Amino acid sequence: MVPGVRLVVLGKQGAGKGTQCVRLSHHYVVPHVSTGDMLRGEVKSRTPLGLRAKEQMDSGELIADELIMEMVGRRLSEGDTRARGFVLDGCPRTISQATELASLLLPDHLDLVIDLEVPTPLVLKRLASRRVCVDCGANYSVSSPPLSNWTCDVCGGEVIQRPDDTEDAIRRRLDLYEVQTAPLIDWYRSRDLLASVNGTGAPDVVTRRCVKAIELRRNAGSASRSTEPSSSPVEPETRDR
Ligand code: ADP
Repeated sequence: MVPGVRLVVLGKQGAGKGTQCVRLSHHYVVPHVSTGDMLRGEVKSRTPLGLRAKEQMDSGELIADELIMEMVGRRLSEGDTRARGFVLDGCPRTISQATELASLLLPDHLDLVIDLEVPTPLVLKRLASRRVCVDCGANYSVSSPPLSNWTCDVCGGEVIQRPDDTEDAIRRRLDLYEVQTAPLIDWYRSRDLLASVNGTGAPDVVTRRCVKAIELRRNAGSASRSTEPSSSPVEPETRDR
C-alpha cells in the first residue's frame, strides 16, 4: 500500500509548486489542496468570498489570514485529507497561517515542508510565459502550449494568461513572498520540518528530488523510532542539487 503524506510545499511564484504538488499528490494518493485554485473557484462561482477576494487577487495582494484559514480548515477536516493526508500548495503564506495550520492539524503533524528553490530571474521568465486552464488549472507555457488552439489537453477548458500574471502583480506577489512567506523557511527549519529542494531542471527530475527528500525523512523517522532512545538527530535539511 502507498503510504499517505502531510506535506506543505513552499516556493516563490513560478517555482513550479503547482506542477510538483499535482505530481506528488498522485504519487502519494492524497488530495492536492491549493488555496489559489480554491480561491479561483470561489471567484468563478461568484460566492461572497470570491467576490471579496477577486480584486485583491488580481492585484497580487494577500487575502486575510482568517478567511484563508477558515477555508483551509474546512478542507482539511474532510474525510479524505484526515485519512491519508494532503499536499498543501499556497498555504501557509504567513507565520500566523503556519501557527494556525499546526493547531488545525492536532493531534497530527506535518511530515515535511519542501522549499522549492528557484532563482528569481528564472521564475520571472517562467511567469511571463505561463498559461493556465481556467477550468482545471493545468499549467502550460508559450513554449509548451496545449496540442490544439489553447484548449486544455486535460479537460478541454480555455487556456489563458492568469489575470495576476501581469508585470505589476507579479512584482507585488514576489515582494510579498520575500516579506511575508520567506520567513517561514527559517520558521520550519527551526522546527526540524524543512527540506530545501532544487527546483530547477525538468519537472520529472524535480519530482524525483522531492520524493527522495520525503522518503529520507520517513526513513530517518522510522530509524530513530526503532533505535529510541537515540542521540542521533534526524537530518534537518535535504539539499539535492
Ligand atoms: P501564486 O503563488 O502564483 O501567487 P496562487 O495561485 O497560490 O498563486 O495564489 C493566487 C492568489 O490567491 C494570491 O496572490 C493571493 O491573492 C491569494 N492567496 C492564495 N493563497 C493564499 C494564502 N495562503 N494567503 C493569502 N492569500 C492567498
